[in-house]
Amino acid sequence: MAAADYAYQRQQLVRLLEQRGIRDQRVLDAIQRVPRHEFVRRHLWPQAYRDFALPLSSGQTISQPWVVARMSELARVEPHHRVLEIGTGSGYQTAVLALLARWVFSLERIGELARSANRRLRAMGVDNIKIQTFDGTVGWSEMAPYDRIVVTAGAPGVPQPLLDQLAIHGRLVIPEGDLEQQTLACYQKKEDGSFLREEHGGVAFVPLVGRHGWMPEGE
Ligand code: SAH
Repeated sequence: MAAADYAYQRQQLVRLLEQRGIRDQRVLDAIQRVPRHEFVRRHLWPQAYRDFALPLSSGQTISQPWVVARMSELARVEPHHRVLEIGTGSGYQTAVLALLARWVFSLERIGELARSANRRLRAMGVDNIKIQTFDGTVGWSEMAPYDRIVVTAGAPGVPQPLLDQLAIHGRLVIPEGDLEQQTLACYQKKEDGSFLREEHGGVAFVPLVGRHGWMPEGE
């Protein structure tokens, strides 16, 4: 299929996301620009602009476009922001955030996924990102504080190090719940260091595995 056809399919996807309640124009523009098909294996390209999660290697998934849009919208990312993302996966959400923010720091626990996301994003000319293979539940303290933190794997609760690494007035979006389903929670850090917590509906993510997440299998 030609590039123009994919651009048309993305436009249809953006319409659908609008119908499904996404309002933030910067987020919709970013979805319009990022070629989601290039983040999945070739046999999945025909499905890349449907509003579904799709399988990646290593048993992980590229999130559903609506979820990526909703989390980006809830995070309220501004052009000067430094954003920390936990769970790089394919790098699709990273690419969307990179269009919204100044810098995106992204952590992925599976080395093979981190390396291929990094390669893919560099090839697309995305240069305001840094990706590392690391347990994201402990955060990335060298680069802290962050204006925004987006966790794209399901957690039993919010990891304390991430709350610590959030800037004052910062926002953190995370799916919290059990292994099957979670609630999208949004934390805001107040001037005195305390947090406001809001809930924004149900989602289903692969598990956040790590020291302050779910235990790895067999340990
Ligand atoms: N935003 C990604 C979603 C990938 S699925 C995308 O759209 O492609 C969630 C990812 O989180 C998986 O790749 C998984 O390996 C990763 N992950 C799980 N626990 C993690 C942890 N503690 N630190 C970093 N990454 C983690």
